[in-house]
This record gives sequence, C-alpha cells and structure tokens, in this order.
Amino acid sequence: MDFYPVAIEKLIEEFAKLPGIGYKTAQRLTLYVLNLPKEEVEGFAHALIKARGTIKYCSVCGNYTDTDPCAICSNPSRNQSVICVVEEPKDINTLEKVKEYNGVYHVLHGVISPMAGKGPDSIKLKELVSRMKDEVKEVIVATNPNVDGEATAMYISKLLKPLGVKVTRIAHGIPVGGDLEYADEVTLSKALEGRREL
Ligand code: ZN
Repeated sequence: MDFYPVAIEKLIEEFAKLPGIGYKTAQRLTLYVLNLPKEEVEGFAHALIKARGTIKYCSVCGNYTDTDPCAICSNPSRNQSVICVVEEPKDINTLEKVKEYNGVYHVLHGVISPMAGKGPDSIKLKELVSRMKDEVKEVIVATNPNVDGEATAMYISKLLKPLGVKVTRIAHGIPVGGDLEYADEVTLSKALEGRREL
C-alpha cells in the first residue's frame, strides 16, 4: 500500500468515487492537481460547486438546466408537436450536435430493466404521459438499441398509442447493443431519418 499524507489519501479516495476511475487513475489525477497553480485548483473547485448549486432539472423535459423551463423547451422556434424521448440528459447533447432535429425532448432518467429490478415507475413515464396534449403529433423513442432500450420503447408505444399519438423508433445505423453517445453525427442523422412507427 502506498503511503500518503491524509489529505492526499482523501483526495485520491474522492477521485476514485467517480465513474470509470480506478485507484491508479485517482492517484495520478491527485498528483496532477497537487502540481497545479493554487488559483487553478480554486477555479476547479469553484466550478464544481457552482455547477452542483445552480443546475437543476427542467420541469418540462427533465434536461439539465439553469433556467426553468430549459432553453430548448422555452425556444419558440422549436417544434413542440414532436417529442424525442431519450434515456439521459447526455443524449440530448448528442442529438443536438446533429443539428437536424427541431422538436423538443423528454428525458426518462433511465430505462425499464427487469434484470436490474427497474420497473416503469422508476423512470419519468408519468411525466411523459402528462405531456400528451393535442399539439403533440409524434413521439420519437431514441432509447439505446439494447435489450432494455427496446423493451422501454415497446412499453412507451403501448402506453401512448391509445392516446392517439404516433410513436416512432429511431432505426438504421445505430449498432445493436450500442450507445447513442458513441454514434457519429451521420449515423445519428440517418437513424432519425429512418425511424419507423412502433
Ligand atoms: Zn426542458
């Protein structure tokens, strides 16, 4: 076991709590931070505290925002009659990079996953249903193309169809078992174009 002063051990521990960061990486990040100018470290700490303190979820779509409703929901040039359903806020960021989609979003904050014991109540489905007003013409389900993502898409289709909404699913290009985050812009753009009705 390495020996470090308590303050360093504590910082390594904190870094190691982050997703995808093991002890060795945490140790490297810690030593990197210790070599930074003091002002830079203060700026970093301040950015962490500010982001955590000011960012909340949009009460309409569930995206991260510092204003409520968020910039997308409150943008009058966005088409409010098309809602694209995604698993996580990061997926909005990915889809926005394509610059072809002009509708609005709904973040589920997860997927239905029987294997992980996550049922329909564990994600933002009630909130989605409550958005089904007359002006909504189409719901595009852009959950990831893996088992849970597909099951969730089917569930949403069954839930919304009786309400008279067209439910489509992004199709071509996204590899099965893949993640939206890793699809390139052309692939995503094709996936949106080739969506099929559920
Ligand atoms: Zn919003």
